Amino acid sequence: MSISGTVTVRNNRYQPQGDFHRIDRNTPIRDADAGWRLLGVTNPRDMVYIHSYGGEAVFFESLGRGRLMAARCDSPGCDSRGTIFQPFRIHCSDCLGRNTVFDMTELAQKTARVHTFMVCERSGAFNVLEKPIKFINIEFDGVATILMSYLSVGRPEIGMRVVPIFRRVDPTYTILDLSWVPEGTAEADLPQGFAF
Ligand SMILES: [Zn+2]
Repeated sequence: MSISGTVTVRNNRYQPQGDFHRIDRNTPIRDADAGWRLLGVTNPRDMVYIHSYGGEAVFFESLGRGRLMAARCDSPGCDSRGTIFQPFRIHCSDCLGRNTVFDMTELAQKTARVHTFMVCERSGAFNVLEKPIKFINIEFDGVATILMSYLSVGRPEIGMRVVPIFRRVDPTYTILDLSWVPEGTAEADLPQGFAF
């Protein structure tokens, strides 16, 4: 497998390097029931997608450092002033002002609990999570929104107290670097690369 494309920003410009569009040799599609006559071809091709985080970058950078960042509206005069949002949102949905970045790691450790959950035995293309995937919606004291994530240890139950864990070793800089385990889970039982 060749090395896929990488991007660096210099002088405020994207500088892509390497291979962003790959094509593999195609193959014929033949009819096994009709003398192997030609019906078509496969077209194997692959692309590297460039995903910009913009103002949400601080959220993803912080996961690998073991911190869960939220956003809070501090705009004077906004009805939502003081409201904490998780998932992170750059702007307040009421006043459209720029939110303040708020470190809610301790708040999550002390108050996170399962609002509801969904266990998925099957998944779609490009899934990298172990199946069954235990998706959980998490609520926190003082936070106006509910976070979608996944439980890494045990079985989810409504109301269950959970604590965040972070992929501190080789982070992917995606939402998968954040996961949850039941309160009281031992460090030794965490998935590889994760820590409290
Ligand atoms: Zn606001």
